Amino acid sequence: MKQIVLASKNVDKLKEMRRVLGSLPLEILSLTDFADMPDAVEDGSTFEANALIKARFFREQTGIACLADDSGLEVDALGGLPGVHSARFAGYHADDATNNQKLLDELAKIGVTESAADYRCALAFVDTDGTEIVTDGKICGTIKTVARGSGGFGYDPYFYLDADKTMAQLTVDEKNLISHRGAALREMVSRLTEKFS
Ligand code: IMP
Repeated sequence: MKQIVLASKNVDKLKEMRRVLGSLPLEILSLTDFADMPDAVEDGSTFEANALIKARFFREQTGIACLADDSGLEVDALGGLPGVHSARFAGYHADDATNNQKLLDELAKIGVTESAADYRCALAFVDTDGTEIVTDGKICGTIKTVARGSGGFGYDPYFYLDADKTMAQLTVDEKNLISHRGAALREMVSRLTEKFS
């Protein structure tokens, strides 16, 4: 069976991706299956550019076809930040807790408690024969400064889908049905199904 490697070590992200990709006739690996893998330099200015940088880099490093995701939160009141800097908004050693605190701090500085926002995701697949496929997805919502829910990851407890439900209150399947990553994954699955069946 053909192998592909998912270019992530984020367990929650991998869980969401595996759930949708499971229908494909592919053996799915991730970066957690490779010891001492260097980091890709994600210096693109768009999600699409960074997804391609990662997919090309890890295809090269592993010798296996690679699917990479680059995603993030864009908050209107912050001029689109954190955007492509979402993973390291609070600095190089940032984690979900420090990134969320930085988000609250930045909103407090401008006196905002609620803002329109969206999540965006780009996926890039780079095959061993050099074929490249890029898909993307987006979901609009509202960032509020009160956290709710313990599911999902990242900024999910602050990302409201309606007046009182956040992305962190959904199951993995519910989140995939509506999320930026779910949309990009479904489009990718249909493109990969054409290619591999
Ligand atoms: P990446 O791993 O470089 O794509 O960084 C993505 C970052 O964007 C994550 O670390 C989160 O901070 C944020 N992010 C992306 N997708 C989601 C999501 O579905 N929920 C919450 N945060 C997300």
